[in-house]
Amino acid sequence: MAGTGLFTEILDGEAYKYYSDGEWKKSSSGKLVPIINPTTRKVHYKVQACTQEEVNKVMESAKTAQKLWAKTPLWKRAELLHKAASILKEQKAPIAECLVKEIAKPAKDAVTEVVRSGDLISYTAEEGVRILGEGKFLLSDSFPGNERTKYCLTSKIPLGVVLAIPPFNYPVNLAVSKIAPALIAGNSLVLKPPTQGAVSALHMVHCFHLAGFPKGLISCVTGKGSEIGDFLTMHPGVNCISFTGGDTGVAISKKAGMIPLQMELGGKDACIVLEDADLDLVAVNIIKGGFSYSGQRCTAVKVVLVMESVADALVEKVKAKVAKLTVGPPEENCDITPVVTESSANYIEGLVMDAKQKEATFCQEYRREGNLIWPLLLDNVRPDMRIAWEEPFGPVLPVIRISTVEEGIHHCNASNFGLQGCVFTKDINKAMLISDAMETGTVQINSAPARGPDHFPFQGIKDSGIGSQGITNSINMMTKIKTTVINLPTPSYTMG
Ligand code: NAP
Repeated sequence: MAGTGLFTEILDGEAYKYYSDGEWKKSSSGKLVPIINPTTRKVHYKVQACTQEEVNKVMESAKTAQKLWAKTPLWKRAELLHKAASILKEQKAPIAECLVKEIAKPAKDAVTEVVRSGDLISYTAEEGVRILGEGKFLLSDSFPGNERTKYCLTSKIPLGVVLAIPPFNYPVNLAVSKIAPALIAGNSLVLKPPTQGAVSALHMVHCFHLAGFPKGLISCVTGKGSEIGDFLTMHPGVNCISFTGGDTGVAISKKAGMIPLQMELGGKDACIVLEDADLDLVAVNIIKGGFSYSGQRCTAVKVVLVMESVADALVEKVKAKVAKLTVGPPEENCDITPVVTESSANYIEGLVMDAKQKEATFCQEYRREGNLIWPLLLDNVRPDMRIAWEEPFGPVLPVIRISTVEEGIHHCNASNFGLQGCVFTKDINKAMLISDAMETGTVQINSAPARGPDHFPFQGIKDSGIGSQGITNSINMMTKIKTTVINLPTPSYTMG
């Protein structure tokens, strides 16, 4: 159970502590941040509201710990990561319980998130040993005008202190996807978890603590992003920010100093359906892509652009599947569970009401109880409706009927977002041409958009992000190239 057994240490009465300098602590602010259970809409957990002084202390410890960590052999760093991964997997039940209570993730998916995170840590350890153990060797005479008098050796060095800020929807997985690459590359890490999801993240951090990482190397400060976020992201002790979330990321990138940024932001992933598509396959993927975790996924299908000639048939198939989705509490593994906050539910409702007023076709009746919104397919959506462009982050999916493929590509590319997209057709040539034309970081052919597997590159263009994630790309992003040039007094050629 959460907060018991191995995790007793992280709880103080009714509130979870924060993690600094290898110890679990209460904040001197004396203030607690309540975490509302999206299902009951009652306070379920409380976490510390950390102060600026506590953030300063964490940054100092992180800086000191990093200097020693950078001198720790790669195999040793990997060994500790493997240990953390196995503890995390062993502790999947209490961590999954937190995910269910804090973010209403269906119980089975919550366990999957924890196990996937353990696998991600192990893979990162192995990949890190391989790619960080290699460098480049260059000879000067390959550039015109040079003799072979210079040998250039390149290697990858850590950046220093990495600040990781994940979003609520994968508070464990999207935290470890930043923590593990940062650590294997020799950085220290400061985590600011999302408020909804903070307790899951604190349990996950305790697994790293139990694995025996050095004091101060990993820290976790809690508090509302709106209160401590700016102080953290503009802190002079931070050498790199890895952020996943919504528009907040755009604001952070404008305020952050001259440091590398990895930004994985929102999306409006389009699903383009051609006339020759296998409509049963499309329907299955629209359900999985649009409604799993109630649509609260960055890579959820967020708009369907279907050729008019097959639109009726597709909408009927999707409607039949929507009718079978179970709606209710996450503890019962329902397909559709309450959305994360009341304000999210209100926002989604605003998009639905706008579509209603502008006469979209409602394939189901709109229904909401508290934060729970029943799955809704909106047909005949037009570009003048907000839902055609905005990210609902809920179980509401618009269908726009198109008469040419170009129209679909145009809609996709007119969006400010460019995370992923997908195209369904049996013609691989058409699929490739459409994929090339779509201004998104990834295009899936004949499947719904997805972030995993976690070692695939993952990136958004336009307002969807800066840089690229995926295990290898994250390790590389959290390092800098260092070169050493050996200068010889006379040209030297081997075997010459
Ligand atoms: P969010 O509101 O942007 O919050 C993300 C994180 O930023 C949270 O930890 C939040 O803390 C923190 N934060 C808030 N204000 C801050 C500030 N001023 N400075 C620094 N940090 C601050 O996003 P969300 O609602 O959690 O997640 C949903 C969004 O994430 C969607 O737009 C979704 O598409 C996107 N997302 C993108 C990806 C991707 O990889 N592209 C993956 C998943 C989700 P608090 O919780 O304390 O406010």
